[in-house]
Amino acid sequence: MKNIVILTGAGISAESGIATFRGPGGLWEGHRVEDVCTPGALARDPALVHRFYDLRRAALETVAPNAAHAALARLDREWAGGLLIVTQNVDDLHERAGARRMLHMHGALRSALCAACGERREWRDALPPGSACAGCGARALRPDIVFFGEIPYQMERIEAALAEADLFVSIGTSGAVYPAAGFVRMAQAYGAATLELNLERSEGSAWFDATRLGAAGVLVPAWVDEVLG
Ligand code: NAD
Repeated sequence: MKNIVILTGAGISAESGIATFRGPGGLWEGHRVEDVCTPGALARDPALVHRFYDLRRAALETVAPNAAHAALARLDREWAGGLLIVTQNVDDLHERAGARRMLHMHGALRSALCAACGERREWRDALPPGSACAGCGARALRPDIVFFGEIPYQMERIEAALAEADLFVSIGTSGAVYPAAGFVRMAQAYGAATLELNLERSEGSAWFDATRLGAAGVLVPAWVDEVLG
C-alpha cells in the first residue's frame, strides 16, 4: 500500500465540541440547512447568513483539535507514501493539529470570498455584509463556504488522488452530501480498498469494504497506529 486518501466530515470534530451538520431535529446549530447554506439564503437574508458564520468562526477560538486530528497529523508527518486528507469541514482543526497534505473542499470559516472577483483571503474577525474586497474594491465579500448547489473546491486534484489511491478512508461523515458521498465508489472503481470509521452506520456504509463503529477519538489513533506499524 502506497497512496492513501482520507475524507473527513463533521464527526471528526464532534469530540472537540463542534456540532455536526445534522444535529437534533435535523438542524445545524438550530438552523435549517436551507436557511444558512444555500445561495438563495444568502441573497434573501445576508445578515442572517453572515451572522451564522461569524458565530461559527468566533467559536473556533474556544475549541482545540482532538486525538483524531492529532493522529492524522502524525500520519501526515510519518507516512512516506502519498497522502491527501480531504475535509468537508470548515473548521481549521486539521491544520491546527499539524496536518499539511490536506484541503478544504467546502471552504473555510477563517476565509472570505469576494463574490465579484473570486479572490479568497484569510479572515479572522466578523464579516458584515457589504465588506469591501481588498483586491477589487467591490463590497462583495461573503463567507468562503461552498453552499449547496455550488461546486466544491479542488475537485480535479481530489479525483486525481482517488485515481491513484490504494486505500480510501472515510471518517465521521454521514455520506449524505454529494459529491463527497460518491468518493467511495470512485475510489473503488479505480481499485482502492475502502474503510469507513464512524460513530454509527451511515448512508454510505454499504459501499465500504469494511466499517468500524466508534468515536473518532478512539478509532482514528488506533487505525493510524496500525498503518504506521
Ligand atoms: P454530518 O453531520 O452529516 O455527519 C456527521 C457524521 O459523523 C454522522 O454520521 C455521525 O454519526 C458521525 N459522528 C458524530 N460524532 C462522531 C464521533 N465522535 N466520531 C465519529 N463519528 C461521529 O456531517 P458531514 O457528513 O460532514 O456533512 C457535511 C457538511 O457539514 C459539510 O459540508 C461541512 O461543511 C458541514 N459542517 C462542518 C462542520 C465543521 O467544520 N466541523 C460542522 C458542521 C457541519
